[in-house]
Amino acid sequence: MSNKAGFTTQILHGDRWFGTEHGAVHKPIHTSSQYSYNDAADLVAVFQGRPGFSYARQGTPTTAALEDKLNKMEEGRATLTFATGMAALAAVFTTLLKAGDHIVASQYVFGNTNSLFDTLQRLGIEVSMVDATDVKAVEQAIRPETKLVFVETVANPGTQVADLEAIGQLCQKQKLIYLVDNTLTSPWLFKPKEVGASLVMNSLSKHIGGHAHALGGSLTDTGLFDWSGFENIVDTYRFGDPAGWGLTQIKKKALRDMGATLAAEPAHRLAVGAETLSLRLDRACDNAMKVATFLDQHPAVAHVAYPGLLHHPQHERAKRLFKGRYSTLVAATLKDDIDCIEFLNQLKVVILATHVGDTRTLALPAAKTIYHEMGAALRQKMGIGENLIRFSIGIEEPEDLIYDLNQAFAIFT
Ligand SMILES: *Cc1c(COP(=O)(O)O)cnc(C)c1O
Repeated sequence: MSNKAGFTTQILHGDRWFGTEHGAVHKPIHTSSQYSYNDAADLVAVFQGRPGFSYARQGTPTTAALEDKLNKMEEGRATLTFATGMAALAAVFTTLLKAGDHIVASQYVFGNTNSLFDTLQRLGIEVSMVDATDVKAVEQAIRPETKLVFVETVANPGTQVADLEAIGQLCQKQKLIYLVDNTLTSPWLFKPKEVGASLVMNSLSKHIGGHAHALGGSLTDTGLFDWSGFENIVDTYRFGDPAGWGLTQIKKKALRDMGATLAAEPAHRLAVGAETLSLRLDRACDNAMKVATFLDQHPAVAHVAYPGLLHHPQHERAKRLFKGRYSTLVAATLKDDIDCIEFLNQLKVVILATHVGDTRTLALPAAKTIYHEMGAALRQKMGIGENLIRFSIGIEEPEDLIYDLNQAFAIFT
């Protein structure tokens, strides 16, 4: 049954199918830090690789149940959870790569990921950032030391859509790890496995958790990458089925040794939030299309970036890959004579806050906040205008959002 069931059915019933305790429909929140065994041989077996729990830094029954749900959502081989999305990304780069290795990454990435790349360069891992909306730019940047290619599905905040299929084919041909940040699409809109991703990262803090009250991240191994041919797997983890080597090394080094662990309480909140992912995201994507269309026609707006708009450079690609939905991020650049701070201060329904993928609609002046630290030159390369407002559209009634935007623009006319 569980393999045939639909996306939402699997999320809703995943806890029970994973094994109930006392008939509890939700997986209980296991706060125990340690797990005991009556027979010392069982304790030894868990330490030597048998599935089971020992110390909560490597996971609990609560995180394991969430991992099982996420794994079904991404149709992966196995999934690990982390304290945050950034912890999940840092886990890949720091446990699978070493000084002298090279990454090719999209130049359109989340600001904190961009800053993480700076840290990697200091550690001797080189990063080339290219325009990943075209596979040619990625191909030209590949060197003999290249180990991994990284892209986001829809980039934050410019909404560029990476050349996901062609980059997947390139990585397969060149035997490179293909890491895809699926945060803005989530597995409801897009499964990176379908374009050949090796590892899929999701920030659970965003659409999957959905209610802005818990942080988390995940990594799914799709099973498509051949770890037996990857030289950076250390001897200690070269045992058993090679398909598990990559995630085992990530788990031991990032969870056990670095402690990037998701606690049981937020894991539970994220699991409950995930139950309504498809409903929330469908509604929020519909709203985002309406808001983007409204802003696109408004005389005070210079430019709107939203993959659902016909003039978006990757509209056709997004339409083909994301099942006719275009996520919830809308980037609107106001005309020069409109002060984006003054505009934002008029909003009553829309909340002035960072974050994306909440049930509520949020807005912030991107260049002055989340992209402030990177400076004007890099902002320009990433296509972030100084008057750009990033909206994360929620599930409110769309009329209320349009009304709110209209009244905020009214003071400028
Ligand atoms: C938010 C975000 C992250 C980081 O996730 P956290 O859970 O906040 O650490 C990574 N990538 C993208 C695209 C994001 O939007």
